[in-house]
Amino acid sequence: MGNGFFEVPIAVNEPVKSYAPGSPEREEVLKTYKEMYKAKIDVPLFINGKEVKTKETATMSPPHDHKHVLGTYYKATKKNVEEAIETALEARKKWAVMPWEQRAGIFLRAAELLAGPYRAKINAATMLAQSKNIYQAEIDSACELIDFLRFNVQYMTEIYAEQPESTSAAWNRIEYRPLEGFIYAITPFNFTAIAGNLPASAALMGNVVVWKPSNAQIYSAKVIMDVFREAGVPAGVINMVMGDPAMISDTLMASPDFSGVHFTGSTGVFQGIWKKIGDNIKNYKTYPRIVGETGGKDFIVAHKTSNPKQVATAMARGAFEYQGQKCSAASRCYIPKSIWKDVKEYLVDDIRSFKMGTPEDMGNFINAVIHESSFDKLASYIDQAKKDKNVEIIAGGNYDKSKGYFIEPTVIVTKDPKYTTMCTELFGPVLTVYVYDDNKWEETLHLVDETSEYALTGAVFSEDRYALEEAVKILENAAGNFYINDKPTGAVVGQQPFGGARASGTNDKAGSKQNLYRWISPRMVKETFVSPTDYRYPFLG
Ligand code: NAD
Repeated sequence: MGNGFFEVPIAVNEPVKSYAPGSPEREEVLKTYKEMYKAKIDVPLFINGKEVKTKETATMSPPHDHKHVLGTYYKATKKNVEEAIETALEARKKWAVMPWEQRAGIFLRAAELLAGPYRAKINAATMLAQSKNIYQAEIDSACELIDFLRFNVQYMTEIYAEQPESTSAAWNRIEYRPLEGFIYAITPFNFTAIAGNLPASAALMGNVVVWKPSNAQIYSAKVIMDVFREAGVPAGVINMVMGDPAMISDTLMASPDFSGVHFTGSTGVFQGIWKKIGDNIKNYKTYPRIVGETGGKDFIVAHKTSNPKQVATAMARGAFEYQGQKCSAASRCYIPKSIWKDVKEYLVDDIRSFKMGTPEDMGNFINAVIHESSFDKLASYIDQAKKDKNVEIIAGGNYDKSKGYFIEPTVIVTKDPKYTTMCTELFGPVLTVYVYDDNKWEETLHLVDETSEYALTGAVFSEDRYALEEAVKILENAAGNFYINDKPTGAVVGQQPFGGARASGTNDKAGSKQNLYRWISPRMVKETFVSPTDYRYPFLG
């Protein structure tokens, strides 16, 4: 077999298409959306490269049109989950020793399939089943997933190239082994890109994976699985199981071969998983890697020198794009009194101009929230705010679930900086504002730092470098992704590696080398060319 130190294509971010009226991409995605809306699909489990159908099923519907059925998915039994473990471990025998360039070829091909023939389909699936407008779908399910795949291939080669010093007498080599056992990938509903990346990044590094997508994202997860299969991911390397999350997790994490979890979702669920791993720790063959990116209570804090229009725009986009259902979405803002009147006017004007409805109508900036339980939870917080003293709703406040789960983008102004919606992650289009005295800048920064258990994203606005410097320092541990004069959402792979600390996760930075290190276990090999033959050192005389 011929050898070489192969170089992979240099990763560049996938350009975001415009979908402007009259553009070919707009026509194509709308045509695909309409076709997919009419068709009914079946989503089986994928185990050992085979489609598995079971007796228990559930239907999938668009959040903005919940009476319409898009298709059916099948729920795994305990036996199916055990089969997924067995098949993954069997597949590991060949996959773990597959030359890295072959793995790279598969995932680079997946990226190209998404960039070309699957682009309209993955976008339309995300628009339909997760209720994203075309721009939100494009930056997530097409561009971010493509970027994850391409950049991770490049990062993998950079990691493999990291080697220790050697001497003429001994050659030191590090082999980056996949983990022994299988990885469990658990993904959230809100980003198709995360759903694809969590199993793919571990598999790229030579691991085998059992993947459990969110029940609210299965429709686009099927497209991801189709892409993986067409790209050539071998049978058993990535297995997809759906159904009861607790049963699936209990079964997978009871296996002695469980070697790591790659999780994104809410903090409570992640803490339950961590606890379960702790309870089972004596049963495992290896200490499992625990990677989890979890909730947020992300902030925007403006200084009196900031530009009110820029602050209001960051609030409008940062809090309400994708209905506030981004882990990075701004949900608490701290605005100084002197600029509040202007910020409020611009923000309320913006919100009044938002149109809400289906993603198919491209004039809509706002679509539906993901499901009924999310809708009900958000409605109850809004109802409570209507009753509470010290709180005023200055925009939105209405909701309607007769056709879809629509919540009006809502802005609450509170006089209590520790009001419940300033502290709790709601995960929806509800933004709470606290107006502070201009001369309490430093005090307010400490308030921002201490108000929430989370530390995911945050943004500071100011035209004063001293004020910015103070914010950077005081808020050092308040956000894993910190923005200066920008909204706190929209991280791009390769540019802003993403993740937070405190209750927001293990901060292993998706879309960076740091994340890939978690899916390998280095083996140090020292080869001595001429072995010593006398134990005595010179100092012994
Ligand atoms: P979720 O916690 O409800 O679900 C996430 C995944 O966990 C799903 O696959 C779900 O089925 C599974 N799950 C639920 N109960 C489980 C259990 N008992 N055992 C094992 N798995 C279980 O979260 P969601 O509603 O899908 O997503 C929203 C949450 O995800 C928010 O809290 C958001 O902040 C967070 N999120 C964080 C990031 C980040 O990078 N930090 C990114 C996206 C989303």
